[in-house]
Amino acid sequence: SATDVVILGAGPAGLVLGNLLQNSGIDCVVLERAERAHIQTRARAGFLAANTVRILERHGLAEGLHRSGRVHSTCEFRTADGRFRLDYGGLGRGERHTVYPQQQLVTDLLTRFLASGGRVDFATEAVAVLDTDTDRPSVTVREADGHPGRWAARYVAGCDGRHGAARRSLPAGSVRRHHCDHGVTWLGLLAEAPPSLDAVGYAVHERGFAGHMARTSEITRYYVQCERGTPADAWSEERIWDELDLRMRGTEYGPLHRGRVVERAVVDLESDVLEPLRHGSLFLAGDAAGLVSPCAAKGANLAVLEAEILAGALVDDLVHGDSEGLDAYSARCLAYIWRAQEFSHWMIRLLHGPSGSDGTSSFHNSLRRSRLTSLRTSRSHQDWFAEHYVGV
Ligand code: FAD
Repeated sequence: SATDVVILGAGPAGLVLGNLLQNSGIDCVVLERAERAHIQTRARAGFLAANTVRILERHGLAEGLHRSGRVHSTCEFRTADGRFRLDYGGLGRGERHTVYPQQQLVTDLLTRFLASGGRVDFATEAVAVLDTDTDRPSVTVREADGHPGRWAARYVAGCDGRHGAARRSLPAGSVRRHHCDHGVTWLGLLAEAPPSLDAVGYAVHERGFAGHMARTSEITRYYVQCERGTPADAWSEERIWDELDLRMRGTEYGPLHRGRVVERAVVDLESDVLEPLRHGSLFLAGDAAGLVSPCAAKGANLAVLEAEILAGALVDDLVHGDSEGLDAYSARCLAYIWRAQEFSHWMIRLLHGPSGSDGTSSFHNSLRRSRLTSLRTSRSHQDWFAEHYVGV
């Protein structure tokens, strides 16, 4: 089969790109390894930046999030020195988050794409992207029935995440990989429990970090830092709630609303960026381009931004014969990616202390305390925080 653009992956990046190309009359197909039901129920991100909402609005893709997304603009830090709140909606650029579960966004994007005549091949795994240094690349696939297939195109968009076929297909030595393991592991939880505070909660505790993020009025996401290598099912529900209550300082600020833990996953905090994001006729976007640790909630937002930039560049090239946008794509996106990496790295160091009791760890823990004091007391530091926390 042949088309103009083959898009690998039906996540936020692939589906925004598909919709924008479709709107401009460009022929494309989305190849997705998973079943439809899986991508529509996979709970991951939830905090959409103001710029992400503007992009979705610009292209008529924001109906669902306007209907049921909730505007959010406060975070609360709980530390041994007390607690403080930042109403970031009134700081920095005055921007807010919209809380809208990623699986709902994916469902909206998919529904719109299919309704406007788009094609998604589910249960179809891209195996390799070939001939990327020509203007007739192709993608080999394993189709739903297990048979091999092949798509030819003018361009291929690798939106298939960090472990996808696009990354695997890059010739050795053609890109540079920047990788950082932050040495921190989280147990990510979804609980059938109403939020316990009307803010994002960040607990800085000597036993490790704990985080609280509302998803809906009945579902709350929690993170609790654990030892590297901890299996996801190692902690009983009781231990999880006891540990969360302890770190969130429930005795001082009120106990958490407990509920059934309906999903758990272990997340090693890592960053991973490829450079450049283009190899001939193959372009990378979203997590395939750069993985940002979930600490600052940037991944889905970058995915949407990069998809819009790539769509504009592809339309310029395929419709107007202007390839300037494609030539600039990698440098443009990398500037955003590194900005997000920098902020996420800063957040990781703010929220997690080094373990051990030697002089180095006490030095770093004191630095962290000083950073938190600065964030609590300095208006210019708060403005800086707000600008980068909610921006991409
Ligand atoms: P994905 O959403 O991963 O989509 C890639 C798609 O490609 C998948 O559907 C996959 O099945 C498919 N695929 C993979 N390989 C192949 C193949 N070979 N062939 C065909 N298809 C393939 N980000 C935020 O901005 N805010 C948050 O609050 C936030 N919280 C998070 C919490 C957790 C626990 C996690 C894990 C992530 C979080 N993120 C958050 C990050 C965010 O979810 C990702 O950055 C985002 O999903 C990236 O979108 P994407 O389209 O690039 O990739």
